[in-house]
Amino acid sequence: MRLSGITPSGHPHLGNHLGAIRRWASDGGPGDLYFVSDLHAMTTTHNPGGLRARTSEMLAVLVAAGIPAEQVFVQSDLARELSALTWVLECTCSYGEAARMIQFKEKGSGQAGVRLSLLTYPVLMAADILLQGADEVPVGEDQNQHVELARALARRFNGAYGEVFTVPRPVLPPTGARVRDLADPARKMSKSARDAAGVVFVLDEPDLIRRKVRRAVTDAFTEVAYAPEERSGVANLLDILAGCRDARPADLATEFSSYGALKEAVADAVIETLRPIRERTAELLADPGELDRVRKAGAARAAERGEHRLNSAMRLIGAGT
Ligand code: ATP
Ligand code: MG
Repeated sequence: MRLSGITPSGHPHLGNHLGAIRRWASDGGPGDLYFVSDLHAMTTTHNPGGLRARTSEMLAVLVAAGIPAEQVFVQSDLARELSALTWVLECTCSYGEAARMIQFKEKGSGQAGVRLSLLTYPVLMAADILLQGADEVPVGEDQNQHVELARALARRFNGAYGEVFTVPRPVLPPTGARVRDLADPARKMSKSARDAAGVVFVLDEPDLIRRKVRRAVTDAFTEVAYAPEERSGVANLLDILAGCRDARPADLATEFSSYGALKEAVADAVIETLRPIRERTAELLADPGELDRVRKAGAARAAERGEHRLNSAMRLIGAGT
């Protein structure tokens, strides 16, 4: 089964949708699980109320985008199980292995006041994966190293104490599946971007989407052509249109005689792609009872699924009853 998480570090955007959420809703099997990794959003300075609101929003968006409600849960609802397994895995992991993680080195190493959790969160991520027995973990390139760590820990534990964990494998997205920031096509679209001018959020109103697309950075050429290296802004627009229409970007380029026409088509396609999700999300957020039921049922299912693995791991390592 596949397991994948999304951190509520900001609002979900078009890149999250085209690159991840949409695939989760369409490609998976009935046993796959998707979760909102709210515990991972606390490794750097955070705001509790904001985090809670973004967690509900993210859960609602996953369901609104078509992931069956039986396949979603919120990470912190399994905090007890995950903390216990994280401890077991921290006792399987060396300090050097954790300190070598590129994300830690980039974001925290050597900085004053850096949270200990920034160092240890890849071990929590290993617990997320190993608790559920996932064998495939769809991740972006930047999380690949963390899945490799989960693999190493599963193998080491199984070898030292007894076979309990499935050894997971990272599944990387197809190349070219990155949506770029409309205002700065050198960067990928990100939840945590400092400037949201070039980020289309899943819940943006149609007018705002159109304004953001119209302002997208292009280049000094006039003819529409697909050249990702040299003309990244226009290529990004074609990639987005191709993503929304399930077409090939190079084929679409010939359809347009001006950048203006291309931008209008992109705005239309993005608005129509996101509209049903925005509307369904609004319904879900307006009915906290329903979202709460989804959340509780998801938590119960995920906890039950992981229970025997956690208990076995505890027993094998010499703890628990
Ligand atoms: P952050 O800035 O907090 O890292 P993010 O926007 O990069 O947020 P993640 O939570 O890191 O989002 O990633 C969630 C999922 O969305 C992953 O599967 C990742 O590969 C995918 N994803 C993120 N950004 C993009 C993008 N610009 N284009 C395509 N897929 C993306
Ligand atoms: Mg990211």
